[in-house]
Amino acid sequence: MRTKLAAGNWKMNGSRAALTELDALAEPAKGPCEVLICPPATLISEAAGRVEGVAVGGQDCHSEASGAHTGDVAAAMLADAGASYVILGHSERRADHDEHDEDVRTKTLAAWDAGLKAIVCVGETLDEREANNTLDIIGGQLAGSIPDGATGHSLVVAYEPVWAIGTGKVPTTDQIGEVHDFIRARLERRFGEGVGRSVRILYGGSVKAKNAAEIFAVSNVDGALVGGASLKAEDFGPIIEALN
Ligand code: PEP
Repeated sequence: MRTKLAAGNWKMNGSRAALTELDALAEPAKGPCEVLICPPATLISEAAGRVEGVAVGGQDCHSEASGAHTGDVAAAMLADAGASYVILGHSERRADHDEHDEDVRTKTLAAWDAGLKAIVCVGETLDEREANNTLDIIGGQLAGSIPDGATGHSLVVAYEPVWAIGTGKVPTTDQIGEVHDFIRARLERRFGEGVGRSVRILYGGSVKAKNAAEIFAVSNVDGALVGGASLKAEDFGPIIEALN
């Protein structure tokens, strides 16, 4: 039985004052679904442990443990600040920072070395979907971004169609189900049935309170990675409740 996960990605938003939004998640966070907020790195230490049942994660980490990498954050630094997860390979990182599957793979290894759980993001662009290449793209990203040795404890996969992120456009439930079933099959084929069935697969891309229940009813959807609607407890709380 996979524990559902509601993960919020605050991206480059938020301030210390905004952490009161976490306090307002205290009630929904009492339910069975796991709740995670990934704020900017500057807020991790203040967010971690602030609200019972609300775990904290990073949005990226460097692949090396330390060194001359100005502006970067090592996985062990995230863990030291109180993070238990890190999002890796988000399409904004892939686009803005020219990150490729191999970068995501080495970052994932660094995250595991530091004891963090990695949320590895995959997703096709609109052009790729319209060219009927979605499953090939996702298959390639899974193969290249996820290192050997994954377990249901160390790995979460997030399917985030690039064209659905921050756009208000959401794939049909059939489209979501097709990709999630495909990801599950690929995980089982590569890591064996036991591990493949234990890895959680999140959907991400314009999840809101109003569409959450419908998306969460799709097979192999184990929760959501939520951007915009995770910033305010009044929006994120009902999404958590839809998983509880
Ligand atoms: C995201 O960036 O991971 C995301 C899913 O964003 P949004 O929910 O705003 O589409």
